[in-house]
Amino acid sequence: MRHWASFASSCLSIMPAIASSKSYRVGRSKTGLGLFATMPIKKGTRIIRYYGPILDSRIPAHDAIENKYLFELNNRWTIDGSVRKNLARYINHSCRPNAESDVRPRERKVFIRAIKNIEPGDEINYDYGTDYFKAYLKPIGCKCPSCEAKRKKQRAEARAERAKVKARTERKAKAGTKGAKKKKLNGHAFSKANGRARA
Ligand SMILES: [Zn+2]
Repeated sequence: MRHWASFASSCLSIMPAIASSKSYRVGRSKTGLGLFATMPIKKGTRIIRYYGPILDSRIPAHDAIENKYLFELNNRWTIDGSVRKNLARYINHSCRPNAESDVRPRERKVFIRAIKNIEPGDEINYDYGTDYFKAYLKPIGCKCPSCEAKRKKQRAEARAERAKVKARTERKAKAGTKGAKKKKLNGHAFSKANGRARA
């Protein structure tokens, strides 16, 4: 699998052409554009076909085609998903997805199928696979909601740890100041008592 999660801004121009009767729409995602549910989608439902011309790697002209939306079915067959009609190309990767790619090499078809109940407004995503992740996402840091949440949690934990250290340091510093104050007070009290004693 070789297709990418980022999209050209020129894709926006096709947005008005999308039928409203579909269970999805193209919309703004954190990482660019994405595909969003417009109605409840039940787990197991076929949402959309990953559509495009079939490329045969044995044909040099086909093999030379390179774009962000190539979906490898097997060693020989690849779907060129860069065509405008293929709205499935907007679906972003997630490490904890709500859909999966149902790859059928014999039929030379790929369907995106819900693996969870999806609510209207939810972004639809699937796992692009280990090879893709290692090659493209790991080096730059995966921006999927699951990884973002993980990073957010790690940042919060680091913040909490820093706060703890700071509080400890401040407590120690305060204890030091208190000690200094006490000495002064003692000195004062001592001198007063001394004064009284002298009077
Ligand atoms: Zn991720």
